[in-house]
Amino acid sequence: MHRVMIEEASYDNCREAVNRAFDLFPVRIRDRRVLVKPNVLRSSEAEEGIVTHPAVLRAVIERVESEGPARIVVGDNPGLVSYGANEACFRRTGLLEAAGDYYQNIGNEAEEVALDSELAERVSVSRAVLEADVVISLPKFKTHGLTILTGGIKNSYGILPGAQKARLHRLAGNPARFNDVIVDVFRLRPPDLFILDAVIGMEGNGPASSDLRPIGRILASDNGVALDAVMARMMGLDPAALRFLETARRHGLGDFAPETIDVIGRLEVIPGFKLPHLDAGAGNLSSAIQELLHSRTVLRPEADPDSCTGCGTCVDQCPVSALVMTDDLPVVDKELCITCFCCQEICPEKAITLK
Ligand code: SF4
Ligand code: SF4
Repeated sequence: MHRVMIEEASYDNCREAVNRAFDLFPVRIRDRRVLVKPNVLRSSEAEEGIVTHPAVLRAVIERVESEGPARIVVGDNPGLVSYGANEACFRRTGLLEAAGDYYQNIGNEAEEVALDSELAERVSVSRAVLEADVVISLPKFKTHGLTILTGGIKNSYGILPGAQKARLHRLAGNPARFNDVIVDVFRLRPPDLFILDAVIGMEGNGPASSDLRPIGRILASDNGVALDAVMARMMGLDPAALRFLETARRHGLGDFAPETIDVIGRLEVIPGFKLPHLDAGAGNLSSAIQELLHSRTVLRPEADPDSCTGCGTCVDQCPVSALVMTDDLPVVDKELCITCFCCQEICPEKAITLK
């Protein structure tokens, strides 16, 4: 039986929930190498809700310190466009200050390992991940255009430094295969403890949407599949409809069936929670998700003319110059686009959606 904790929390008092997580899911810290991995998707302000909040990171560090001595490292590989600006991302989000001397640019040293995946035989993984005795993952409660939600399993995609994330995005080519490859990466080193920042969550067109949703919870578990399943249920989703959870279960990483999970706390569906755009529209939600995830159509970014300010940032940042400004609106060249979704993640107006 898996266990998932749900505790009420704010950023002012999240220490309490974090301490309870460590009490419920004890990990041996003393004299060990401990990697704490927040979700640092990209450079942003903490209030934008795109990254794990610094208050949660601080509370985790203080608890780990209290159980030390330990060799603590705090690090992540920010996604796609920000991978050359690791420290800058940590600084702007407030996570650098929260991490103090424990911050390390874990993208600087990597080791090549075999990947059990149809997309690639080998990938480079940050050495700090491979060398850690204990990995503590700090995901954020968010939606995601390709996986529907991003929580415990997707947070491990950040163990890949450099441009590999974009490469695997491109090789995957469609949402179903992308869902499989994030599980393949997760399998390289499943974390020992997950503490999920759901104090302020994100709905709508995540993972960098401006649709923030106060949830006031910290979730925790020692199993990423069970954690993400509970998160799905809070979003009003059937976990069985999520391809990456099915793939993870097939690999023996855990279970998502409600009868296999002991929820410690109150699991409540968030009323009217907005999911990423599902083309199937109304009707059966599970079918709509399945249709999206099994779609053979390659998704392409599209700018919303009502939100786009024509700033040109996406055009400048596209790694393959697939975007051209036409009448003050970026237009994608479908032949050139490698579906890395850098443009969606970087757009300051959150104007780009996947169509
Ligand atoms: S980055 Fe966003 S706002 Fe700027 S041009 Fe691109 S779509 Fe428009
Ligand atoms: S247009 Fe395509 S290739 Fe360019 S940044 Fe967007 S998703 Fe990536």
